[in-house]
Amino acid sequence: MTTFNIGIIGGGIGGLSLAQNLKKNGIDTNVTVFERDPSPTFRNQGYRVTIHPSGETHLRACLPDALYEKFRANSYRWDSFRMMDKYERLLVDPPAEAILSRSVDRAMLRSILCSGLDNVQYGKEFLAYHETENEVEVRFVDGSTERFDLIIAADGSQSRIRGQKLPEYAELADTGYFDIASKLPWSERTQQLAKELGATAHVEVLTHTGEALVIIPQFYDGVDEDPADGYLYWGYIVACNKFNQMTGGAREGQALKGIAMKLSESYSPLLREMISSTPAEEMTLLHFLTSVKPNAVPTSRVVMMGDAIHSMPPMAGMGANTAIRDANELATRFKAVFDGKMGLFEAIEDYHKVMLDYGFAAVDLSNSNLKKAVVGHPILKRIELFVLRTLHQVAPSVMDNVIAGNLGKEG
Ligand SMILES: Cc1cc2nc3c(=O)[nH]c(=O)nc-3n(C[C@H](O)[C@H](O)[C@H](O)COP(=O)(O)OP(=O)(O)OC[C@H]3O[C@@H](n4cnc5c(N)ncnc54)[C@H](O)[C@@H]3O)c2cc1C
Repeated sequence: MTTFNIGIIGGGIGGLSLAQNLKKNGIDTNVTVFERDPSPTFRNQGYRVTIHPSGETHLRACLPDALYEKFRANSYRWDSFRMMDKYERLLVDPPAEAILSRSVDRAMLRSILCSGLDNVQYGKEFLAYHETENEVEVRFVDGSTERFDLIIAADGSQSRIRGQKLPEYAELADTGYFDIASKLPWSERTQQLAKELGATAHVEVLTHTGEALVIIPQFYDGVDEDPADGYLYWGYIVACNKFNQMTGGAREGQALKGIAMKLSESYSPLLREMISSTPAEEMTLLHFLTSVKPNAVPTSRVVMMGDAIHSMPPMAGMGANTAIRDANELATRFKAVFDGKMGLFEAIEDYHKVMLDYGFAAVDLSNSNLKKAVVGHPILKRIELFVLRTLHQVAPSVMDNVIAGNLGKEG
């Protein structure tokens, strides 16, 4: 049996999935997770996450049965993925049975992933590492140091480890798009509005003017959840240039609401109501950035995973799914090393190679979905919307099946 000390830097979705998987496979004795947040509930974890069937398979492999059951009991299956135009005319509407993805609250997912782990240290912000032939020394912001046989970069999209290991890829690339991410709090009217829009799970509103609106109702009806926590999420995707011209650079809630109202002037009354009734303080600007694929990740004692290596705009709901897959792929190889069936560096090299392929297939899919939604000449876009609408009317199953088949697809 080969044993080794592993330091996982970052206690997010990927890092915790890995820690769970190593524990499940009985190789947790020398594993420690270092998370910069002072506690798992320190900050708002953000909007709900979609876990596709393939991601769920990897999540199940990472979790003990009881925690997987908790995930199932506190997540729900999507039952629609509609595309419509700004007048609410349907473009794509696959049948519910074709959609198998699930939605889970981020804080719930993190609490499930933390459960039963006594090897997570909070308030430990990684600063830098020093690698030698035999070990990696890690320095933390609090001045402390630790030594490991290997470390895992699970420190998210702004990864400091990536900056050190792959300096030419330190900065993420700009997609050229912002997302005005907004929360319309639950009320009887909000629920009615969602119902009238047909927004039971996910609606994309496509336009010919280079913007797209994504609407996702967020229900909280899991066994440990409070339905009153629900809200209607909508995100308005706008080109950075256009946004900056219109706001002169202002980014506070009122400016975001002003832009969304201005851009949606010709939209249906229901869509307008959704935007106008959202409080400005519930609007945040997200900048869509993307990783650029390195030719290879050099094999060493520093291993890359999750957003630290393949960050992507959330246009395919694949980032977390891919981070969970990384955790399972990595743990499977560590198990082989632990059982003496594979050399450590052979396992790391093989993992990085495979991960770059499927990880960047997910990055490409996300960027391609973004482009499909917002890029194109206005006249061609008008034609495209007309064709989609007509196709949906005369042969609905054609595009519906294409879209359903692409949900959560990996490379
Ligand atoms: C609006 C939005 C919606 C999304 N929706 C989906 C979706 O529906 N489905 C999906 O699959 N993906 C989705 N994603 C993407 C998904 O959130 C990420 O891909 C996923 O969280 C990546 O997991 P990770 O573990 O690599 O990084 P993270 O989950 O970001 O975790 C990184 C962790 O590292 C910690 N950390 C950072 N720096 C340090 C440091 N120096 N020292 C110690 N700790 C550190 C952070 O505090 C954090 O806890 C969405 C993203 C956004 C922005």
